Amino acid sequence: MAMKSKVLIVGGTGYLGKRLVKASLAQGHETYVLHREEIGVDIEKVQMLLSFKQQGAHLVTGSLNDHQSLVKVVKLVDVVICAISGVHIRSHQILLQLKLVDAIKEAGNVKRFLPSEFGTDPARMENAMEPGRVTFDDKMVVRSAIEESGIPFTYISANCFAGYFLGGLCQPGFILPSREQVRLLGDGNQKAIYVDEDDIATYSIKTIDDPRTLNKTVYIRPPQNILSQREVVQIWEKLIGKELLKSSISEQEFLAIMKEQDYAEQVGLTHYYHVCYEGCLANFEIGDGAEEASKLYPEVKYTTVEEYMTRYL
Ligand code: NDP
Repeated sequence: MAMKSKVLIVGGTGYLGKRLVKASLAQGHETYVLHREEIGVDIEKVQMLLSFKQQGAHLVTGSLNDHQSLVKVVKLVDVVICAISGVHIRSHQILLQLKLVDAIKEAGNVKRFLPSEFGTDPARMENAMEPGRVTFDDKMVVRSAIEESGIPFTYISANCFAGYFLGGLCQPGFILPSREQVRLLGDGNQKAIYVDEDDIATYSIKTIDDPRTLNKTVYIRPPQNILSQREVVQIWEKLIGKELLKSSISEQEFLAIMKEQDYAEQVGLTHYYHVCYEGCLANFEIGDGAEEASKLYPEVKYTTVEEYMTRYL
């Protein structure tokens, strides 16, 4: 049997990153996690890193501001996965990955790089609205650098993180589902795709040694999880045994409210707009040159929307 690749996770202490570390270890990869010197005495992060070590990961010290330190750690592995932050209301550091790309280029040994994507496919968002398009534009800048450097890659388009979208019944600004009411975005009928973050990590790790995913985009579209906001609400109503009071916010109202928010909020709202009013995640067929994760890996028992939502009961 082919040897499993050694993996370096950058941003392993993050919301998605910690799941990537877990999935990499679970799938039997020798796993290295970058310990950035800059985190200093952030006790939570250091404790998390130590817990990874207890689970079998190797901690490696380096900094995105120290090229040689990065080259050194990249040389230890076959695959690099970056999960650096990219949500404005938390932190947005996507372009810092250019330093990682430089290090991977110089090291010259990396067989696969998965940059911090894990959302809407930025290549499909050339007409996205301001200011939220910055997320897609920055991710495309990183893609260009990867491709110009000839670094083998896989781009993961993970659609909606379940925690954000299912937690809030697809309403921006909410991450816990109400038992009383919900505001539908428009008619609430646009389909989106929701994926448990642990499943995103599992599928992502599955791709790294798979020749079918080399230099391709992999969309994660679990078939049972392609649902409209109304359908998500119905699932929740069934779970709580009660109908919610429903109102609706029109496209025009949504955009008007958006303009009154601060920059970080506007970025997030732009993303909700494209997903919930335009249906940008599910309104296209996956064409040649791309793959779909649940078809590639039918052995993964993914979490359905209903299963995910039972945690809120
Ligand atoms: P987090 O905000 O949890 O941050 C991840 C990591 O970013 C941290 O662990 C940290 O690493 C690193 N980081 C933050 N600031 C810096 C810095 N200045 N220099 C270097 N590293 C830094 O990220 P998420 O898990 O929320 O996001 C990961 C990816 O997932 C992004 O691409 C994002 O766009 C995407 N995403 C998609 C969503 C969807 O619904 N599809 C929802 C949310 C995110 P360290 O520990 O070393 O400091």
